[in-house]
Amino acid sequence: AAAAASVPSPLFKVNSPNVQYTDEHILSKYSYFNTLVTKQADGTMIAEPTETVYEFKTERKVPRVGMMMVGWGGNNGSTLTASILAHKNKLTWRTKSGVHKPNYFGSVTQSSTVRLGVDAEGADVHVPMSQMLPMVNPTDFVLGGWDISSKNLAESMDRAKVLAYDLQRQVADEMSKMTPLPSIYYPDFIAANQEDRADNLIPGNDKRAHVNHIRKDIRDFKAANNLDKVIVIWTANTERFAELIDGVNDTADNFLAAVENSHEEVAPSSIFALACIEEGTPFINGSPQNTFVPGLIQLAERHKAFIGGDDFKSGQTKMKSALVDFLVNAGIKPVAITSYNHLGNNDGKNLSSHRQFRSKEISKSTVVDDMVAANDLLYAKDEHPDHTVVIKYVPSVGDSKRALDEYECDIFMGGRQSISMYNICEDSLLASPLIIDLVIMTELMTRLQYKTIDMPKFSTFHSVLSILSYMLKAPMVSPGTPVVNALSRQRTAIENIFRAAVGLSANNEMGLEHKVW
Ligand code: NAD
Repeated sequence: AAAAASVPSPLFKVNSPNVQYTDEHILSKYSYFNTLVTKQADGTMIAEPTETVYEFKTERKVPRVGMMMVGWGGNNGSTLTASILAHKNKLTWRTKSGVHKPNYFGSVTQSSTVRLGVDAEGADVHVPMSQMLPMVNPTDFVLGGWDISSKNLAESMDRAKVLAYDLQRQVADEMSKMTPLPSIYYPDFIAANQEDRADNLIPGNDKRAHVNHIRKDIRDFKAANNLDKVIVIWTANTERFAELIDGVNDTADNFLAAVENSHEEVAPSSIFALACIEEGTPFINGSPQNTFVPGLIQLAERHKAFIGGDDFKSGQTKMKSALVDFLVNAGIKPVAITSYNHLGNNDGKNLSSHRQFRSKEISKSTVVDDMVAANDLLYAKDEHPDHTVVIKYVPSVGDSKRALDEYECDIFMGGRQSISMYNICEDSLLASPLIIDLVIMTELMTRLQYKTIDMPKFSTFHSVLSILSYMLKAPMVSPGTPVVNALSRQRTAIENIFRAAVGLSANNEMGLEHKVW
């Protein structure tokens, strides 16, 4: 943060006839090159280069942003809150290994760089990703949210047992004044073992009244803190899947009627999502359950509201989406991926219940599908590696999750390669920076518009923010479009969309200038 604060803004300007900076906007004209492939009857293909001209318009003014977390009093919510306060107050703290200062490690926007171009000598020039376009500084987030547990944030942080005591001690006073708003509790959706913490509830069973209550909470928070925008993120417990029932959650109107009738298959997370959609507030789902039933996605599209999900991609799955991408693209054939976890935090406790574990299992299961499908030299049609996911609750390891993974691969001439990994780290310290990135990128997408030649005026991007895929285990994409799980492709998409918005061509690794005479 200290480094970022001293950076002049903007750090670079693009000098091009296709790019214009006004006081309010960055305007760019961008040629999007693609390749259209047509399969012929004889099995050959025709590949045709295509070009579509887009105009992009980015609002330059960075607004005052509030982040409201559902499940604020959980491990992620309390860890993130303490960490942001540590940045705001420029704290340092001691552990047995010395003095520490706050950082944003693990946040792709705050702690990774992008290759902007080359200098006159041909050397690469990198800039922080956060400098590619005007983005909110996470230290400026105004934090709030809901929890079914009434503990204040200092008590929650203590309960979470994630951060060092010397840091907790210094933020405790400020955090003791932060108390989550009462929330919606439909006991059937989360594990029965969560019941003893549910003491901070919005009364009644009327689901429409619950939606309206949440909408009012968002408006009140915005007004009380003088905010331009609010982003809501679900970091509450994993719910069971909602049953998909025709006439209940299949279409926008049926879903609205189901809410009016307080239908039992409408989950708390879907109530929050609906409240946000109706309020025009972006909503991101950080847990694996199917919050976004088809009717809700339709509603988001109808309101042109932004939604994103599902499930933070923090540890094991992030590794998987990098490693399988590498293996398959190296021509090596994973035939079995066996993943085992144990953890001892409240998330682990909730997931020890079968229906909630099932949500996680589904979310973790599809991550290699697109990578496997992309290589028909290794895999026959519909062939998949065996893929198993086990999660066990072991209270004594607390938030320090253990993930053991074995990748069994077929290699050259009938050989076998077994890759075994053992990953240990605090789960909430991986998830918190992802929450930051999700909110920063979502906020940015509310200020980025596009237009093609055929469009009379600028439009926002599609409601379903698939640009967030890098941070999500089971990325949602707009209906009918392909899911990309491969980590490197997801990062490239972010980088190149940001580049397009400032009129720079997509990054490629040709390095022609270094390869020719
Ligand atoms: P946690 O159990 O510590 O926190 C969840 C909080 O949500 C609790 O304080 C609980 O009281 C609250 N809650 C439950 N139902 C609620 C409701 N209806 N409204 C408001 N609050 C509610 O869990 P965590 O470790 O912070 O993880 C949060 C979620 O993120 C989990 O669903 C987990 O599966 C998901 N997730 C976490 C990680 C990670 O930590 N690395 C990765 C991927 C997904």
